[in-house]
Amino acid sequence: MLGELLITENYPMKRLNSFSAGGSARYYAQPRSIAELMSVLEFAYRKGIAVEIIGGGTHILVPDEGIDALVISTKDMRGMTIRGDLITASPGEMLDNIINIAIEHNLIGMEELGGIPGTVAGAMTINASANGKSLSDVFFYGDYLTIDGKIHRRPYYSDSFRKQGSAFGSTEIIIGVALRLQPSKATAEARLRKEKYVEKFFIPPCPRYSGQIFKDPEGMSAAELISKCYLTGENGSKAEFSEYDSNCIFTYPGCTADEIKSLILHTRDSVLEKTGIRLELSLDIL
Ligand SMILES: Cc1cc2nc3c(=O)[nH]c(=O)nc-3n(C[C@H](O)[C@H](O)[C@H](O)COP(=O)(O)OP(=O)(O)OC[C@H]3O[C@@H](n4cnc5c(N)ncnc54)[C@H](O)[C@@H]3O)c2cc1C
Repeated sequence: MLGELLITENYPMKRLNSFSAGGSARYYAQPRSIAELMSVLEFAYRKGIAVEIIGGGTHILVPDEGIDALVISTKDMRGMTIRGDLITASPGEMLDNIINIAIEHNLIGMEELGGIPGTVAGAMTINASANGKSLSDVFFYGDYLTIDGKIHRRPYYSDSFRKQGSAFGSTEIIIGVALRLQPSKATAEARLRKEKYVEKFFIPPCPRYSGQIFKDPEGMSAAELISKCYLTGENGSKAEFSEYDSNCIFTYPGCTADEIKSLILHTRDSVLEKTGIRLELSLDIL
């Protein structure tokens, strides 16, 4: 216990990720504020253990043997303020919720991202994209914490983002994101537009489904490369690429993280061998 904040030992990470697979984290915490986050970091420092940051856990794979680290989820760090055309959100705010609140406040420009699961910080780290729109299109600045406990601000520079690639480094903990939107009175139309994108957004009736595993190489689609190579799961494997989007994996009950990882590595190697293109991971393997 750190004050009121609970740091759990041997936390089953299965509960958190989209695949419902993987082992336990040595320690796990869900701070609700920057002050709590700093106390948790101090705990890790005192114990001399590594730190892994996650958000809602929709885009991570946890190894079966678990993680010898303190896993910190920022999903309980919530809150939003709106000033003029600027929305400032804490890292744990759900991206989809931000879009709804923006529309309620006559701010539009993110409807294309409707339906993407997970937090705004998680979305920021992969520069979440859908329907021709990327989060970086509305990004204004991001506040982040470095492991030494210092707070920094990263303003928008168009060249620091790329499709599915972020301006934030892997050791930077995002603690706030400011998004600049477009003031508009056409909110009914924006709401309809957003609903249309959510409907289009395919989430199958199966909870163990991933987002896109690989980033799209420049000017190409990773899904097309994978389907051209006719890659499926190994015989008997409980993980396979989906017939709806061949860059997404779905799994059957009882699937292990090892099975998912070996499908991912086999696919990356086969695509390289057959096309000469090295696919880069979008999913974070902790
Ligand atoms: C069914 C499905 C559909 C999806 N569709 C899309 C899509 O259309 N487009 C798209 O872009 N993505 C898509 N995704 C991927 C995923 O939803 C997004 O990447 C999401 O934004 C991740 O948010 P999260 O909070 O769950 O992050 P997590 O999965 O918890 O973490 C993802 C990454 O973000 C980092 N991270 C999280 N929080 C912080 C923080 N506070 N500071 C620093 N780093 C942090 C983690 O270290 C990790 O590397 C989909 C996923 C699923 C399951």
